[in-house]
Amino acid sequence: MKNIDTYDFSGKKVIVRVDFNVPLNDKFEITDDTRIRAAIPTIQKIREGGGAVILMSHLGRPKEGPEEKFSLKHLIPDLNDKLGTEVQFADDCIGEQAKQKADALQPGQVLVLENLRFYKEETKGDEAFAKKLAELADVYMNDAFGTAHRAHASTAIIAQFFPEEKLFGYVMGNELKSINKVLKEGEKPFTAVLGGAKVSGKIEIIKHLLDKVDNLIIGGGMMFTFIKAMGGKIGNSLVEEDLIETAREAIEKADELGVSLYIPTDTIAADKFDNEAETKTCKAGEIPEGWMGLDIGPETIKNFNDVIENSATILWNGPMGVFELESFAKGTIAIAHAIANSTEKGAFSLVGGGDSVAAVNKYKLKDKVSYVSTGGGAMLEFIEGKQLPGVLAVQE
Ligand code: AMP
Repeated sequence: MKNIDTYDFSGKKVIVRVDFNVPLNDKFEITDDTRIRAAIPTIQKIREGGGAVILMSHLGRPKEGPEEKFSLKHLIPDLNDKLGTEVQFADDCIGEQAKQKADALQPGQVLVLENLRFYKEETKGDEAFAKKLAELADVYMNDAFGTAHRAHASTAIIAQFFPEEKLFGYVMGNELKSINKVLKEGEKPFTAVLGGAKVSGKIEIIKHLLDKVDNLIIGGGMMFTFIKAMGGKIGNSLVEEDLIETAREAIEKADELGVSLYIPTDTIAADKFDNEAETKTCKAGEIPEGWMGLDIGPETIKNFNDVIENSATILWNGPMGVFELESFAKGTIAIAHAIANSTEKGAFSLVGGGDSVAAVNKYKLKDKVSYVSTGGGAMLEFIEGKQLPGVLAVQE
């Protein structure tokens, strides 16, 4: 496979699928530029190598055709600053103007195409649309890990028009390296910490990880399906009745494989789903009727801490409780700090999934973990063992 570090970009026009799906306020100002910052090294590498860059992305969820609030033109001032050059813009991602601007691009210059999702052909993976995008460039680069699990025109279908000249950018490369490092080359003991609301969203991951981990820690709303499967009383806590059997099977499989499964022993129970609710700490399997567990309790925090601090590789996905409400955030805060401490002592830690990433950002621990994955859904599918179309299309 071609590698961004060694590829000769001189005189080439490179069309790069980036993830510029950033939040904008009502004045169209960027409120979180993480994704743009992440793409800068890739863009600069191509420019320094003598190539011209054509950037394409989606932004938001436009319904039918162009919408002002989803225009990528709002990103141009920020890109000018970050790249230290006058970035050009084509107000349609395909067609005459885009073609003319792409043709006229000189080495080192950058052109941004208008939002790909102004065409429904993008998400449909339309081949003719992908071909029109492909005609703008000599080389295809995918640097959008966040959409790699989708077989869209710009993330996967387009690659066929560049049978030789296709490669990953740094964002994509780093994501794949970090996840592979954890799943395939992780030092032992390897601990996965899974939380979040539902077992249904995580069951495939649990199954896939049982073969790989030494310790599996379960928290969040999904713990109660496991606790019920073990015969516990969970009051009004979140539960997926139809997955109790599946949870039981996972417990048995962990036992067969010698995986240490850690299910909370105590919980912070509340009389209603409210920050101002009355709360009490109780045994996780003895929650009174009318009460619901909304966070892990102090004994559990201590036990989870011990496991995490003695791990060499840690994967974290999903909060331990309803961390959006301050009254139920303690468990998630404690676990985030435990992962940061373990990382400081030499462990490799990978944090992924929207809510866990939000948590490390909120508690200012982003720089204290080894890697924060930018692609929630893509990361989960990758961990489940699925082939991602956006990755496959470049590798094939
Ligand atoms: P997910 O999208 O599946 O990762 O779930 C994240 C959501 O799970 C967050 O919004 C949390 O508030 C929620 N959550 C975590 N613990 C609990 C709990 N004990 N009961 C209900 N919801 C929870």
